[in-house]
Amino acid sequence: MSAEGIQGPERFWSGTEWTGPITDGHLHLDRSGRFLDAAHDFHRSGGTRMILVHKPNFECLPTTMDAIHAAYLDTLAMADEVRDSVGLKVQVVLGPHPVTWVHQIPSMGIEAATKLHLDAVDVALDYFESGDCVAVGEVGRPHFLVEDEVWNAANMMLHEVLHRCSKRSCPVQLHVEDRADHTFAEIDQIRHSAGLPVKFTLRHYAPSNVTESFRSGLPVTVSMGKESIQGIALSLIEEGLVVQDMTPFLMETDYLDDLRRPGAVLGPKTLPKRTNELGRYLQMPVSEGGLGWNRATVANLLWMLHRVWPDTLYGECR
Ligand SMILES: [Zn+2]
Repeated sequence: MSAEGIQGPERFWSGTEWTGPITDGHLHLDRSGRFLDAAHDFHRSGGTRMILVHKPNFECLPTTMDAIHAAYLDTLAMADEVRDSVGLKVQVVLGPHPVTWVHQIPSMGIEAATKLHLDAVDVALDYFESGDCVAVGEVGRPHFLVEDEVWNAANMMLHEVLHRCSKRSCPVQLHVEDRADHTFAEIDQIRHSAGLPVKFTLRHYAPSNVTESFRSGLPVTVSMGKESIQGIALSLIEEGLVVQDMTPFLMETDYLDDLRRPGAVLGPKTLPKRTNELGRYLQMPVSEGGLGWNRATVANLLWMLHRVWPDTLYGECR
């Protein structure tokens, strides 16, 4: 069959190259970093859509609601600039970061730091209701060891954050520690008692094991380091190939746009590269170490990853 006759996602997959949509499910931009240059890199390498997550200024943490407002507005303004001057589709996620809360405890005390955090969530929820952002995040709990008192307070605060989001039917992007499936099971428990539906409870920086049992059925964005391809492929074998029925998962770089830490996270060109690598790996014959999927099935998965699931989680992007 000629390429012109092919309908659906298959027309974007040549067997080696994906020319369809490519979505980064979690990244940051910074005016003092590469900002538009980084967005151009993503676009030129094949990227089409980004979920731009608010990044607090860790050098100078906001201590007032005015400062938090100003910081959110700047992230929204950056999204506009990327849309206008790069031509990417952008959806924004706003919220206070759990690590800023930890950093603010010594100077502010737990009570005041928690109040500021929850107030910042409320402001983000207002932006969600007005349609300026599509989710609250990244919220969660510290990914490093803290005193019991802080850990317990973090879990109570997380419960309250998820409860407030549930009341407005707002999706959440979670930043949490990595204790494999234990972390997922605990998060699932907290979101359940807070009343937040599973479909709104997404964990970012997730490992590449995307089996439902490992992630307690929660949606995730997978951090797409080199080994992530094999991890995803193994999960797909285990799940028995019913991609349509899987809980959404997206790819992410968590690009930080921090000039002082260039190697700390994945760069903005990573996802187009990994998308092609994943497609080729899935299509490679079993005798050569691949999964032996046919072209249409590969194309369908890439379409789900980069178009259907992002729409399911955050709505269609203008
Ligand atoms: Zn992040």
